[in-house]
Amino acid sequence: MKNIILIAPPAAGKGTVSKLLVENDNYIQLSTGNILREMAAKDEELQKLLDSGCLVSDEIICKILKEKLIELKGKSYILDGFPRTINQAQIYDEIIKELGIDLGIVAYLDVPKEILLKRITSRLVCPKCGATYSTSNESLKPKNENICDMCNSDLIKRLDDSEETFELRYNTYMEKTNPLLDYYTNKGILHRIDAINSDETYRQVRQLIR
Ligand code: ADP
Repeated sequence: MKNIILIAPPAAGKGTVSKLLVENDNYIQLSTGNILREMAAKDEELQKLLDSGCLVSDEIICKILKEKLIELKGKSYILDGFPRTINQAQIYDEIIKELGIDLGIVAYLDVPKEILLKRITSRLVCPKCGATYSTSNESLKPKNENICDMCNSDLIKRLDDSEETFELRYNTYMEKTNPLLDYYTNKGILHRIDAINSDETYRQVRQLIR
């Protein structure tokens, strides 16, 4: 199976698509946001940085990612939240060359800003396994109110999922991450997906990996 890079603004549905690919298609999800949030539980400085909506340095995130890729030992994976800058994409090219990993495909999940804001403010996440849910979408609600379907933990609202922090995260995305669309278009592996409907998004990503 092809490795997948998901590029999308905050709350476009990277986590939701990843969850379906993990459950149905045997993929491993590498969510840099989830990895960092787990680390931040024991690191106050990192927690403050994540709450602010700013990016972690390219150097740190690339080092963490490389360690995870080595642990995977060749299994197919989805990159959810990485790369987020051109510099990260270039370092990633070097890492996979060194490890003999195939770049695979890049799926760009396109969602209008107004819809992203609505999703952010209705998003719930599992602090333990990182699964995401939405209280405004019937098919994305947890089966039992405020309880994670996957691991039964109590769901929480992320501190960076406020309207103000969304604005900063969206602007950071447009400035730093959006240029990756050209980077991967030039490599001939970018696929744009209309990601307003989550079931349809999954169906389209699935078509790309077959
Ligand atoms: P979202 O995609 O909804 O903005 P994520 O869960 O992917 O949220 O990321 C949460 C936070 O983790 C980001 O705001 C940033 O601080 C940090 N982060 C995640 N991935 C990266 C990355 N590749 N480079 C730098 N910072 C990152």
